[in-house]
Amino acid sequence: MKIALIAHDEKKELMVQFCIAYCGILSRYSICATGTTGKLVAEATGLEIQRFLSGSQGGDQQIAAQIAYNEIDMLLFFRDPLNPKPLEPNDMNLLRLCDMHNIPVATNIATAEMLIHGLERGDLDWRNIVK
Ligand code: PGA
Repeated sequence: MKIALIAHDEKKELMVQFCIAYCGILSRYSICATGTTGKLVAEATGLEIQRFLSGSQGGDQQIAAQIAYNEIDMLLFFRDPLNPKPLEPNDMNLLRLCDMHNIPVATNIATAEMLIHGLERGDLDWRNIVK
């Protein structure tokens, strides 16, 4: 199973802390991320992370393409709700694609914690069967 990580600038530290806290679980899965998010998380946790381009250069679109092919099993996308971004339509497209394929997506840490516990419990094993 593959988990994708994206964090807007104001949420990157939170993503790093989250990944440190759940490093043990995350290490059992393939992890991919947009460029800067992936770099920060990899440095802080030692996790092996497939890094795409930086979000501003299209990294989020690369992840969107993987989601469109149903190749991502969970998206943790820590968005900054206070600073609207010029790339907002891309964000909406990511969420739309997750809805198309029933891919669990968390846009804040509270949901992410629930998803990660569910993942550990095997709640997402059905995706292996469907594939
Ligand atoms: P980044 O991309 O991880 O490369 O910064 C995420 C974003 O769009 O902010």
